[in-house]
Amino acid sequence: MSIFRQSQNTGLRLHVSSCRYCSSPALPGTDLCEAHTGEAGRLLFNPKRAGYRLKAYRIARRAAIRRANGHCEKCGAKLKRRPNRSVICQTHHKDDDPTNNPLDGSNLDVCCLDCHSGSRSPT
Ligand SMILES: [Zn+2]
Ligand SMILES: [Zn+2]
Repeated sequence: MSIFRQSQNTGLRLHVSSCRYCSSPALPGTDLCEAHTGEAGRLLFNPKRAGYRLKAYRIARRAAIRRANGHCEKCGAKLKRRPNRSVICQTHHKDDDPTNNPLDGSNLDVCCLDCHSGSRSPT
């Protein structure tokens, strides 16, 4: 679930909270301070996310996308494409470990955004 979607439920109530990771004031509608929004905060929350920065991940992802051949490997739906023809998809780590990236893409499922529920933290 995305932070943005959650924050809409807090409604009009003026609510100042502090950051989930430190004592700095949180940005409006979030529980994260400026330093902990975005990738820095997600990394703290799940250090294995560092795996997304590995070259092996990028190679494995490319191999998995080639294997998927334009279709979601969960539901079989045809994947949409960006104007530059690259497919819009998310890759799911079968063992939930983003640092485990065999170069043949065998630990990855290529998913449409529906199957990965539009998650902003694709594992
Ligand atoms: Zn913070
Ligand atoms: Zn799907």
